[in-house]
Amino acid sequence: MKTETSGGILFILSSPSGGGKTTLAKKLAEGCDDIRISVSYTTRQKRAGEQDGREYCFIGLDRFKRMVDENAFAEYAIVHGQFYGTSLESIEKARQEGYDLLLDIDVQGAAQLRSKGVDYVSIFIIPPTMEELKRRLKSRGTESDAEIEKRLKIAEKEMTHRGEYDYVIINRDLETALNGLKQIIAAEREKRLSGEKKESE
Ligand code: 5GP
Repeated sequence: MKTETSGGILFILSSPSGGGKTTLAKKLAEGCDDIRISVSYTTRQKRAGEQDGREYCFIGLDRFKRMVDENAFAEYAIVHGQFYGTSLESIEKARQEGYDLLLDIDVQGAAQLRSKGVDYVSIFIIPPTMEELKRRLKSRGTESDAEIEKRLKIAEKEMTHRGEYDYVIINRDLETALNGLKQIIAAEREKRLSGEKKESE
């Protein structure tokens, strides 16, 4: 999906855990050379199949805290008891090199960037029902029952923030949600391009 683009747009994708945003983000970036997924830093344990530097940069708590002290993060938050953060460097690099960047971050991170005046387009992915969310979390098989219950409680709270986002996508099925996401990205690029054209007229 190479399109004419003004480049350097920051897209934020949030959803409750199990809402499908990670799969959506991966699908979107496949074969797409003008949008990249930001790789966050986290203190959580690597899951089976994950690679350091691909899904996350997996680091210890000491290093994370050092990075906080050095102001290396554009935003960071504790999610499900672990630290997660987006480096300032990854955002700067996207701006300088002119590619769009997709941040898969939680509602706290999005709020922090907003309060810092960072310009972004935000999209909230919601599951069709809470029952479906529970089913997806269970079928993922990566969390214990207790962890799933914890995530469902957090999900209910996170869902109350959907009104703070520019767009909401209901993830009934992957293909439809992916198309919705692509349309939002295309529309936002178009908006910026037409804005730039108007400015130069
Ligand atoms: P998971 O551990 O399941 O990959 O992610 C747990 C949650 O952390 C998800 O809601 C994800 O969006 C969020 N998350 C991942 N990276 C970051 C980050 O850099 N900053 C913030 N604030 N949240 C993040």
